[in-house]
Amino acid sequence: MGGKFREVNVKSPASKREEQILSEWSAQDMVKLSVTAREGAPPFIFYEGPPTANGRPGIHHVLARTIKDTVCRYKTMEGYQVNRKAGWDTHGLPVEIEVEKQLGLSSKLGIEEYGIEAFNHQCRQSVFTYEKEWRRMTERIGYWIDLDDPYITLNNDYIETVWWILKKYFDAGLIYEGHKIMPYCSRCGTPLASHEVSLGYKDETINSIYVRMKVVGTANEYFLVWTTTPWTLPSNVALAINPAFTYVKARRPEDDCIYILVRERVAAVLGKEAEIVEEVKGEQLLNLAYEQLLPFLEASGPSFRVYGADFVSTEDGTGIVHIAPAFGEDDYQLGRKHNLPVLQPVDKAGNFTAEISPWAGRFVRDTDDEITAHLKAEGKLFKKERITHSYPYCWRCDTALLYYARKSWYIEVTKYKDRLIANNNKINWYPEHVGKGRFGNWLENVIDWSLSRDRYWGTPLNIWRCENCNRLDAVGSRAELAERAFEPVDPATIDLHRPYIDDLHLKCECGGRMTRTPEVIDCWFDSGSMPYAQWHYPFEH
Ligand SMILES: [Zn+2]
Ligand SMILES: [Zn+2]
Repeated sequence: MGGKFREVNVKSPASKREEQILSEWSAQDMVKLSVTAREGAPPFIFYEGPPTANGRPGIHHVLARTIKDTVCRYKTMEGYQVNRKAGWDTHGLPVEIEVEKQLGLSSKLGIEEYGIEAFNHQCRQSVFTYEKEWRRMTERIGYWIDLDDPYITLNNDYIETVWWILKKYFDAGLIYEGHKIMPYCSRCGTPLASHEVSLGYKDETINSIYVRMKVVGTANEYFLVWTTTPWTLPSNVALAINPAFTYVKARRPEDDCIYILVRERVAAVLGKEAEIVEEVKGEQLLNLAYEQLLPFLEASGPSFRVYGADFVSTEDGTGIVHIAPAFGEDDYQLGRKHNLPVLQPVDKAGNFTAEISPWAGRFVRDTDDEITAHLKAEGKLFKKERITHSYPYCWRCDTALLYYARKSWYIEVTKYKDRLIANNNKINWYPEHVGKGRFGNWLENVIDWSLSRDRYWGTPLNIWRCENCNRLDAVGSRAELAERAFEPVDPATIDLHRPYIDDLHLKCECGGRMTRTPEVIDCWFDSGSMPYAQWHYPFEH
């Protein structure tokens, strides 16, 4: 070979030279030629992750596209055929939020009054607002990608493949209905997204309390537990400690009781006079049982025991954390791991249900003082402390948010954790710390994928539930939908989005009518389905 590079005329501005080259490429249709010239060559598979075109491209997109382009060019020069199909991510909350702003809507209620059909129509209109800017940026930086035949996540074909994948998961028992802990406004009746929560933090001074929970089988030994949310105590089902910490049994002068807490917090909680009776390793506390603090609700499973968790710290409190799976994400995950029940005695308006008889019908946060007084009367309060902390309020209506368990659909990713880690270890990552570190750590701590969103503009979750026998079933294609629906369905013209899909019912084996569960799915599942969905696999294949 021994060819020389063409000499560069450095006197003409770089931008002029680039434009000259771009126009040569364009004249020869180089993007297509780079693929067709390799017809029959071994393929190098390149996946283009889809951007959203309802926002302008940013400089970080230029960086990522440069890296992707470099790899594809190199592989093409090595003799591979590299297909470069572009794609657009078109569903999800970012699209809805833009449209809500345009329409002056600020709640789900507002969207429903406006009408889901009209709202989704606006979403569909908005998703290509900045396509021209994207095209100009893409072409100007010399990123070779086929923008003329992109995959688009809102197309029926794309959705149909996503449904096909989800049905496979459903039939394999990998999709289940669980709970998700979300910041929730009980007045607006809606969960808030994290960017909304961040709008409404306020400093407030409240009573935090230390309660004592009696160790089963002892005369006078107690776990000391701190909480800033006394209203969650009726839902307590477990205590969490950090097995790596050192705990102590300690007492104070003129008090016969023995208190268990983490060593670092003895002086702060029990006072300087406290006497340490015995040190115990955290792991020795595991599985110890304690008496239920506020026995309004029955709890099944291995409740009222001590479990290990690495989210327990010695920063504040006692190193022993009260676990109420209905009201905290860490709590919920720990509960799932140990099969603990979710005690949820709070209704959608944020009020206690009838089981919590002394405070039934009251907004839970308004009962903290009364619960504290009740605990004191029963000898279960150790002490209370005024603290000032930052707490989120609803940015719309100024109501204190509750962290609250809501029904949610999950994909059981944890079942595949070992395989995910093993496969990740086979990947030749550059730079190594991204794959072994950041992504590897994420896999080590992988949790089940919270799939559903209580929203409007997205791929509808393809699960129907029988109104009669509660049986669940998933639909995997337009043809199956047409075959099984009560209502007439034309697979060629149907729009698979809400609200149209909500009107279709299936016939259950029991003879009953099945209604679709109302959620849409996380739009990251859309983009993650791209290796299959960009080709409408398996339908024409
Ligand atoms: Zn609100
Ligand atoms: Zn049925």
